[in-house]
Amino acid sequence: MKIASVESFIVHAPIPRFVADSFNTATTWGLPGVIVRTKDGVEGWGYTSTLSFGDRAIKSIIDDIYTPLLIGENPMDTQRLWEKLYWSDSHWVGRSGIAHMAIAAVDIALWDLKCKLLGQPLYKLIGGHKPGAIKSYNTDGGWLNFGVPRLVDEMQALLEQGYVGVKMKIGGPDPRVDVARVGAVRKALGDNVDLMIDVNQKWDRTTALGWAPRFEEFAPGWLEEPLDPDDVEGHALLAKATRIPIALGEHVYTRTQFREFIGRAGIGYAQVDCTRVAGITEWLAVAEIALAHHVPVVPHHADMMRVHQHLGAGHAASPMIECIPWLQELFQEPADIRNGVFNVPDTPGASTTFDRPMFEKHRVA
Ligand code: MG
Repeated sequence: MKIASVESFIVHAPIPRFVADSFNTATTWGLPGVIVRTKDGVEGWGYTSTLSFGDRAIKSIIDDIYTPLLIGENPMDTQRLWEKLYWSDSHWVGRSGIAHMAIAAVDIALWDLKCKLLGQPLYKLIGGHKPGAIKSYNTDGGWLNFGVPRLVDEMQALLEQGYVGVKMKIGGPDPRVDVARVGAVRKALGDNVDLMIDVNQKWDRTTALGWAPRFEEFAPGWLEEPLDPDDVEGHALLAKATRIPIALGEHVYTRTQFREFIGRAGIGYAQVDCTRVAGITEWLAVAEIALAHHVPVVPHHADMMRVHQHLGAGHAASPMIECIPWLQELFQEPADIRNGVFNVPDTPGASTTFDRPMFEKHRVA
């Protein structure tokens, strides 16, 4: 059983509505990825994700460095191939960011292929911890460009649909406005709802240490990405300064960095995303570190929950996943979300196979 071909691609899909957080506005979702085929024509699909910037750089690393290393290899050897790519010529020019995201795309494709060759869905292959279902909370009602009435309307609709919690964006230019918005939303939703808040990296240490305690009266489920995602010490100081659990992970790219945040900084939730750490192989390593520290893993959604539904259902560290229910039509098997619960498919693979007509429609390279 050998890898016969590796075909890279870039898909650009329009995001269904205009949204903003304190860092980004988003109109196009970029999916630079790869199809890995055996000589019998079995295909593994994998991708990472962007806001459509940097895609060509990711694709060129796959084409120039990783593809020659994969041809002729056994796709079942996911751990060995991860090491082969990680310690390749890309090591000098990028052990996180673009090169790491390129490994993520390849690694996800290899796992999808392995699952298909074994006839198993990913969640079963990694242990089947919660057979066939995983709860989710929803971020899509809480954007920074929404006024309070719209926030409340959209979040209440999501809660009525059965999601276990909702999240809203903060980190605007004036923290007083953030406090007022969170206070108004908490009052409207009531005390029996899980409400998370997300700064998207915007605060410095001084702002975070001064203002985070001001949100405690609203009992947020967690405070997400309060600081620069490289500042382990700052997160450690903040974790001691507020009763609100700290969450982060969508900009943490390696298992070693996660070890520091989980072990030394004392974060409360690890939001590891398999498209940012280098694929499923490294996601599983982070989940084991989190499990050993009794820290729950609630993965970020950048794969549009395709792989994370399996990882959440499959692994003991994960009680729930994030949900932003966009772009399911891109895939052969759209997510089956009922009452806020993902009913994870038993179809062999990692649920990353695109719908062919949609793939051709949105493919730009
Ligand atoms: Mg976030």
